[in-house]
Amino acid sequence: MQHDDHAGTAGRSSPTQTLNWSDVTRWATHGNLPPPRRVEKTDAQWRELLTDEQFGITRLKGTERAHSSEMCRLFEPGRYQCLCCATLLFDASSKFESHSGWPSFTQPVALGVIAYHQDNSHSMNRIETTCNVCDAHLGHVFPDGPEPSGLRFCINAVSLKKIADVSTNLDNKHSEEQTGPTTKGASS
Ligand SMILES: [Zn+2]
Repeated sequence: MQHDDHAGTAGRSSPTQTLNWSDVTRWATHGNLPPPRRVEKTDAQWRELLTDEQFGITRLKGTERAHSSEMCRLFEPGRYQCLCCATLLFDASSKFESHSGWPSFTQPVALGVIAYHQDNSHSMNRIETTCNVCDAHLGHVFPDGPEPSGLRFCINAVSLKKIADVSTNLDNKHSEEQTGPTTKGASS
């Protein structure tokens, strides 16, 4: 009886915290990771929940005008969830100024929340991003982002809803007493 200890094969799927362009193209070509859950509605049901603009962008793969949203210049802490199904997609810590006119991120909050698809429309070869839970169109991802991921998730602001980073943070149990207002003059 041979006792071949093939250690290592199981550990091959070492979780890379930062995804990169080869991950994205692999998923777009060979299929996406399973979503954490699914939300499925008919077009009529989505129409009841969304404005015409929201429906056009998230359900019909539209694109908002560049620089049309203040969200481009918003870098306060917080999280961004899918407009349609409230799945958490991005954290403000991964948001950066791309000067593209659309909110831009380097990576999502979790691997399975975004799906990637080859998009050859408009005679371009791009990778479309959708919400993996409800299939809402988000935008595209490009390989020209900053390190470490090198990715630029170029996302329609309409497809996102920003939520404050409160109440989800229960590990901050100790209440910090702030005596006296920290007078920070509006010097800018
Ligand atoms: Zn969604």
